[in-house]
Amino acid sequence: MKTSRIICSECEAILSVHAEACHACGYPVVSRGQPALPDENETNVAPLREYKLMQLAGIAMSCAGFAAVLADALVIASVTVTVGVGTYMTGLLGAWWNSAE
Ligand SMILES: [Zn+2]
Repeated sequence: MKTSRIICSECEAILSVHAEACHACGYPVVSRGQPALPDENETNVAPLREYKLMQLAGIAMSCAGFAAVLADALVIASVTVTVGVGTYMTGLLGAWWNSAE
């Protein structure tokens, strides 16, 4: 069984929970009740990137739709442009909604 570890709040060295001060920088260990190795990977994974991808996909579909117009494939063009613009607008709204907070 592993002994619990904590991270120095000053220099992020890994310390034993029994240490009274950081062996690297000497910073006193504040609390022994700290959870072991707090997960710092959960820092704001912004969904904004997904919405920007939606905007790019919408633009690409719209371009394909206009290319279909030039090829006289009007049904395909209208569907592609509609879906493309819809995807783009969804991305815009999503980005706006998430950045407004
Ligand atoms: Zn330290």
